[in-house]
Amino acid sequence: MIEMRNVIKKYSNGTTAIRNISVKIDQGEFVYVVGPSGAGKSTFIKLMYREEVATGGILKVGKYDLLKIKNADVPYMRRQVGVVFQDYKLLPNKTVYENVAYAMEVIGRKKREIKKRVLEVLDLVGLKHKMRSFPNELSGGEQQRISIARAIVNSPKVLIADEPTGNLDPENSWVIMDFIERINASGTTIVMATHNREIVDTNKHRVISIENGRIVRDEEEGDYGYDD
Ligand code: ADP
Repeated sequence: MIEMRNVIKKYSNGTTAIRNISVKIDQGEFVYVVGPSGAGKSTFIKLMYREEVATGGILKVGKYDLLKIKNADVPYMRRQVGVVFQDYKLLPNKTVYENVAYAMEVIGRKKREIKKRVLEVLDLVGLKHKMRSFPNELSGGEQQRISIARAIVNSPKVLIADEPTGNLDPENSWVIMDFIERINASGTTIVMATHNREIVDTNKHRVISIENGRIVRDEEEGDYGYDD
């Protein structure tokens, strides 16, 4: 599903954040990305949905080669990748319903189809009754559940999560993890950067550890492995 070969990312200010990474992630896998702050985890993840473009190497996500993809194909590529952020990134002036619907509107879905699917995913995260609320009327845990609904509304093949529990208390973190596990169980590939030791050591999955822009560990059912 995701393949990197000798991928390099050098930012325009001269910082090299990813140094020659090669890795394969199969459809349906669940991968944690761990490592110290500044190691390159966010950059690694941003390359996968083309928020950043690699400077060199080969990077394939599904059928798309992200270094060669035409601009016109980027929206189609993004359709197969859902993204969840630490700080939710919901649009403050749109209701819950509108936030989730927007992800379907931008790819030209029909109004009736949008309504059916949005209500379905809001129900899935248990927040259909909040569809008319605005993000600032919701708790952090609820906002993250909405952002998960938004990320899966177009049925992506891959869900990318950058510290999805980073702003949440343990109880809400486990609620979010339960949703991510369920999404994975339905066949979606998960790539999740995290500093949450308890989650990584409890819900066992593949662990890729990045330090100084390189993969220094890649284990099936690995541990978190850091002291912080
Ligand atoms: P992590 O997610 O592991 O904390 P990042 O991928 O955010 O690591 O950062 C890796 C390195 O790249 C750091 O040295 C960081 O300062 C640098 N970096 C991140 N984003 C940018 C950017 N937009 N421009 C320049 N340097 C950046």
